[in-house]
Amino acid sequence: LISTEIEFLAPETLAGVLSVLAEYEYDVTVLSGGMSLLPMMNLGLATPDRVVSINRVETLSTITEDAAELVIGSRVRHAEVAADSLIARHCPALAMAASRIGDVQVRNRGTIGGSVSHADPSADYLPVLVASGASIVLESSARGRRKLPAHEFFIDLMYTARQPSELVTEIRVPKLPAGWGAAYVRFARVEGSFAIVNAAASVPPDGSGASLALGGVGPRPVAVDVSRLGALGWDAEALDAAGDAAFEASAGATDDPMNDAEYKREMARVHARRVLRAAAARAGSAR
Ligand SMILES: Cc1cc2nc3c(=O)[nH]c(=O)nc-3n(C[C@H](O)[C@H](O)[C@H](O)COP(=O)(O)OP(=O)(O)OC[C@H]3O[C@@H](n4cnc5c(N)ncnc54)[C@H](O)[C@@H]3O)c2cc1C
Repeated sequence: LISTEIEFLAPETLAGVLSVLAEYEYDVTVLSGGMSLLPMMNLGLATPDRVVSINRVETLSTITEDAAELVIGSRVRHAEVAADSLIARHCPALAMAASRIGDVQVRNRGTIGGSVSHADPSADYLPVLVASGASIVLESSARGRRKLPAHEFFIDLMYTARQPSELVTEIRVPKLPAGWGAAYVRFARVEGSFAIVNAAASVPPDGSGASLALGGVGPRPVAVDVSRLGALGWDAEALDAAGDAAFEASAGATDDPMNDAEYKREMARVHARRVLRAAAARAGSAR
């Protein structure tokens, strides 16, 4: 199934990568950390004849900030996301998510841009990006640069808004405002395996206006509207209401060989409560 010969291109600049993508479009596959692409090739699920690596493009591996956002290059590795001090300060839930991905080899090699481009519905970053209102920056030599909110970028199962001539170049995450709390939780039966269900939340100091997103309960991450809950603090009643909302929002969950859809929805309920309680405790609005 696997091609015996693959043309391998590895430009040193972003312009070089974009020109390869513009020339070959559907006939070239981007290689970042290779932690999803290579297993797919091994399984015969991806059979590229031509690969363009972004691993020599140093400008894609920086983590910077402006007044409002963290700017994370697409080639930043999971281990770097987990350890970075700017990310720990301004989006701690993203650092938590990165630290839980796979195992140390996967975290040392896999990248945030590869994970969002692959768009596995159980990937650890996805609910964090949706709950924190992050955006994905795409660039191509013909279309220029566009910035899409995460909830518009993730369209369906392993399917995103990226066009074949585009590269994901940045993930931009709004800084958590002062006094807010954020958290990430995941549920898996085996350490190091993909989450069955995961959840991320951000909670303001006065409780109302919180955000919640879930993964693993549909083909794409699911935002759950909890913004009007928690006005009197995140007490048991507010957490129960959020759990109910998470259960309802998880109607797109499907059966898999190990877990049926109903079970995933119940786990979404439980983990919505847990993640909101943890975020609220950090924001000081738990009762
Ligand atoms: C054993 C194992 C366990 C894992 N466990 C987890 C887990 O628990 N949680 C989790 O979230 N993930 C897990 N992963 C997946 C891992 O996080 C991958 O690193 C990630 O999904 C893909 O990132 P990558 O940099 O390796 O991308 P690659 O494998 O290089 O690419 C993945 C896909 O994205 C495309 N692509 C890559 N970069 C770009 C870009 N900048 N612009 C456009 N397209 C691009 C590629 O063409 C390819 O289609 C696991 C992987 C393995 C092998």
